[in-house]
Amino acid sequence: MGEFELIERYFKRRPRQAAVGIGDDCAVWTPLSGHQMVFSADMLVEGRHFLSTVNPRALGHKALAVNLSDLAACGATPRAFLLSLALPQVDEAWLSGFSEGLLALADAHGCELIGGDTTQGPLNLAITVIGEVPFGQSILRSGAQPGDDLYVSGHLGDARLALEAFRGLSLPQAVFDLARSRMETPSPRIALGQALRGVASAMADISDGLLGDLGHILKASGVGAEIELTGLRDVMLTAKLWACPPDVHRTCVLSGGDDYELVFTAPAHLRDRVQAVAHASDTLVTHIGRITQADTLVLRDASGQVVPCDLSSYDHFASP
Ligand code: ADP
Ligand code: MG
Repeated sequence: MGEFELIERYFKRRPRQAAVGIGDDCAVWTPLSGHQMVFSADMLVEGRHFLSTVNPRALGHKALAVNLSDLAACGATPRAFLLSLALPQVDEAWLSGFSEGLLALADAHGCELIGGDTTQGPLNLAITVIGEVPFGQSILRSGAQPGDDLYVSGHLGDARLALEAFRGLSLPQAVFDLARSRMETPSPRIALGQALRGVASAMADISDGLLGDLGHILKASGVGAEIELTGLRDVMLTAKLWACPPDVHRTCVLSGGDDYELVFTAPAHLRDRVQAVAHASDTLVTHIGRITQADTLVLRDASGQVVPCDLSSYDHFASP
């Protein structure tokens, strides 16, 4: 099968909102009036971001999900995406599963595949997503203010637990299955992200671990934060299913990565609005602390004691 037949068979569909979709030298898009366009790109490389054994359908889902997560973090509405693929060979079963997983998530979010590039080479998936936001309403990392509340969406740490299982950590089967589904098919928090426009003062998605991604907000906003560790007690989905050792829990939740949840701040007087928005978008939101003036990140345990916050000290699994 040649390159053009491959595109035709697995990726080309009738344009929906695009003025011109796949098939010409460029796609053509008409932006909504009064909106700004937002762009983000993320690449998945075999061996680095996924294993060659991963189910192609799950991989198609994840390749787009990690990109949609960046749009969610800005409060954007997904519109379209470009897919650049390097494939070692034409494997029809793989392509069929991959495109199904990819396009099912795209359809679920009304995000249209409008073009890309296809080449032979080591397996590599690069996606560029395009979203729209009403003018001036993007939620940036730089808007956090001292006194703001600090929140996370959904569940943290489960994807990291799955990674540790792949590296040899022994888990009960039900725990592993749930952790693996969190790792392989994350849910980008698009509805929550959009609903937080005008409510959240700063936001980022959690792709590299809570502390690291919160760190980006703190740096961009020139503020610090206090996290109450008790607020994070129930945030790991799989922890309820087994006797998860406390150090494993802490590492996975604080510096796990691959969560694709949102970390955000909002003024304290909007606390009820935040919970109303969480409810309306059917997404768990957990209050985990507050923004401070000092440019430090402080963790407090149940008794209010400060727990030293050296990121690496939480990485139970880090190689020496
Ligand atoms: P060009 O050589 O002009 O850059 P190509 O011949 O590479 O264009 O691609 C033909 C059309 O197919 C273009 O519209 C391009 O955007 C689209 N396309 C190529 N690869 C993909 C892909 N993996 N997914 C979606 N569209 C693709
Ligand atoms: Mg061309």
